[in-house]
Amino acid sequence: MIECIKTYRLQHKLEESFGFSQWHYDTRNALLVEIIDDSGAIGWGECYGPATVTQNAIDTFYAPLLLGWDPLKNEAAWNHCWRASIDFAMKGPMMGAISGIDMALLDLKGKLLGVSASELMGGRLRDSVECYATGMYFRKQPETELLETILTEAADYVDQGFKALKIKIGKNMAFDKQLIEAMRRTFPNARLMADSNHAYDLPEAVEIGKLLSTHSYAWFEEPLSPTHPALFRQLADKVDIPIATGECEQTRYGFQNLLKEGGVQIAQPDLAYCGGPTEAVKIRAIASSMGINTVAHCWGTQLNLASAAHFLATTYVEPGRAETAPPLLEKDLTPNPMRDEMYAVEMVAKKGTVAVPTAPGLGVAPDRAAMKQFCVQQTEQISAASKPELVTLNSEL
Ligand code: MG
Repeated sequence: MIECIKTYRLQHKLEESFGFSQWHYDTRNALLVEIIDDSGAIGWGECYGPATVTQNAIDTFYAPLLLGWDPLKNEAAWNHCWRASIDFAMKGPMMGAISGIDMALLDLKGKLLGVSASELMGGRLRDSVECYATGMYFRKQPETELLETILTEAADYVDQGFKALKIKIGKNMAFDKQLIEAMRRTFPNARLMADSNHAYDLPEAVEIGKLLSTHSYAWFEEPLSPTHPALFRQLADKVDIPIATGECEQTRYGFQNLLKEGGVQIAQPDLAYCGGPTEAVKIRAIASSMGINTVAHCWGTQLNLASAAHFLATTYVEPGRAETAPPLLEKDLTPNPMRDEMYAVEMVAKKGTVAVPTAPGLGVAPDRAAMKQFCVQQTEQISAASKPELVTLNSEL
């Protein structure tokens, strides 16, 4: 029986901001969820999205629904939360909140049954996952300097053993073209991808897509706004490069609507936002039914990274063959001490590959002492059987 649900809103001010096509980050935020059952077993989850909103959604709306619930009935819990909020929260930060709860319940269930999250997702096809480096964001520099900064950063990732790199584009057309060409010239043998974070209109996306294709990029990520799924079909008809998208999309219903239009070759749900790991498995099944591969989007701390690694360890690559190209795990390498300095056991990429955790559940958990320095607000809901009250603590654990 679920006895207690806690949330931890974490924050870290960056020494130097970094940006992409839409804005600059000067602060990293995270929202972690801890679910404890009456045996004392603990599950950890993470939400992607505005942390103050997801924290409030869990604390005041979803946690009271789940206190007293059997943690082994995790997908039933998802449906319980879904039905309670479907009238006003089919998508958005509240689904981000459900995602963190779903992740925590999967972790908890794995611990209660003594199996890893991969086993709960269908069983592993691989024990380690090759990563691609996500980084190479924009800095507040003149563009000639910025180009050098990005190339130097990319060279460092190649030195670390990454064979695949994803750049950010969508700054402006002239700079984007320069960067796309310079990356290919400098790293002729790397597997390169480019992500515009929905920066382009259709004519611009066609122009950039053709250039990416000329330089043999592996995929073109979020070329267009997620608000116009029909445009992806039009773009795909005009360019010769796989189109990836989905980090802004949620639930099996949302992905079905997005993918049925055609044009998208790679679906990218984020397990801390799309509805959670169990929903991502359903999204993967829908994508599979259309012959589309699913490669998780991954941002945040080690909990989301571990979830994505378990997910990719269990991903069957469509259509299947003896020597298939394995799916790539997104390894965010931008500065984030809440990812790199807060976990006793970390998933570190060695030669561009991570081992999938084998311990029960997700196999990673935050270190409470290390987490304390980042925590700006903690909340706690306790079951009526224990103590029926809401406790809000500021900067205290
Ligand atoms: Mg992206």
